[in-house]
Amino acid sequence: MEQTLKIKSGLLGKQPKLGILGAGQLGKMLAHAAANWDLPLYFLDKSTDFPAGPYAADFFTGDFKNYKDVLAFGRQMDILTIEIEHVNTDALLQLEKEGIKVHPNPKALNIIKDKGLQKQFYEQRNFPTSSFQLFENAKAILQALDNGSLALPFVQKSRGEGYDGKGVVVVKNSEGLPGLIDAPSLCEPLVDIEKELAVIACRNESGQVVTYPMVEMEFEPSANLVEFLFCPAAVNQDIEAKGKDIAGKLIEAFDICGLLAVEFFLTKSGELLINEVAPRPHNSGHQTIDANVTSQFELHLQGVLNLPLGNTALVQPGVMINLLGEPGHKGPVKYEGLKEMMQLSNIHLHLYGKKETRSLRKMGHATVVHSDLEKAKTIARKAQAIFKIKS
Ligand code: ADP
Repeated sequence: MEQTLKIKSGLLGKQPKLGILGAGQLGKMLAHAAANWDLPLYFLDKSTDFPAGPYAADFFTGDFKNYKDVLAFGRQMDILTIEIEHVNTDALLQLEKEGIKVHPNPKALNIIKDKGLQKQFYEQRNFPTSSFQLFENAKAILQALDNGSLALPFVQKSRGEGYDGKGVVVVKNSEGLPGLIDAPSLCEPLVDIEKELAVIACRNESGQVVTYPMVEMEFEPSANLVEFLFCPAAVNQDIEAKGKDIAGKLIEAFDICGLLAVEFFLTKSGELLINEVAPRPHNSGHQTIDANVTSQFELHLQGVLNLPLGNTALVQPGVMINLLGEPGHKGPVKYEGLKEMMQLSNIHLHLYGKKETRSLRKMGHATVVHSDLEKAKTIARKAQAIFKIKS
């Protein structure tokens, strides 16, 4: 039987019904921002046990990759947005035809979901990114190496669903070749990275565009996912201005409303290259909840609802740490060192409420704010040493 959502009205009166595809931590943080405005949010995902479940005005239990589920959910909404890219875009295109607003637009989503199409988009419009070649499978990559059209070292990226470093293989020499992913993918040269940076832009239907200050990311080397994030980034003003300019132009080029997070590589020779984008709230913007005037979650809501966009300025420097599941632990979650971590000053804890932990799973984040970024870094490293997520 089809699920009919219970529609609630907020105190602000008649509001558009806003549906979110995905009920993970990004959905939960969107729901928190919406709650401040007394704005009910509706979610579609597989289980109400997921992080956003307890904060949903109502929940549609289903699969955001399934055409029928997205259609049935979307038809009960006025506006739809996402907290994950890998949703059924055919259903979103149909919903658009039926007059439901979809932000980000499904055409842009189709490009961004496929890392190959994403790279072609940059190349065709002269946005700076590293060179690349597309391949059907691992065999085609080995053939290209044999005939000299591809050279070692390179980075292979699966075109489809990859996230947090999964679906990315760094091949430094021939010993890495057995680890190739056997799927449609792209290969690009190994970039000599000085820093990994990000800028989040936001746009609304009225055409207003804003960008956040640039942030700098430090990666957990074994898992390839962000461990620390520093804001402001230690880069010169030209690099920051260039990154903000590119992010603003990209959000226009994709015709996206809501957020667009743009990840960059700054090369050792000083070039700023686009690595990839995400058209939704992003890990590189979590510190905005505690360190900026407007959080990325408020800003995304403003973008998709065509409200005036808030001030993105930094109030205080911030360091964000991802709180990851301890390697080797899998099962119902236990937190160690919570009280000791809370004794540290200037720290804001955000636990996502995931019931199960596993190695390096993102279970939460913490943001340290301090007028002195170096002091914030020291507190953040202490917090990381104290707080453990185990099974
Ligand atoms: P994901 O979608 O999983 O986040 P990315 O494309 O961002 O994947 O790659 C994950 C990480 O791998 C990057 O943040 C960077 O550290 C490293 N990486 C990706 N591409 C390259 C490259 N061309 N050269 C060097 N390192 C890279």
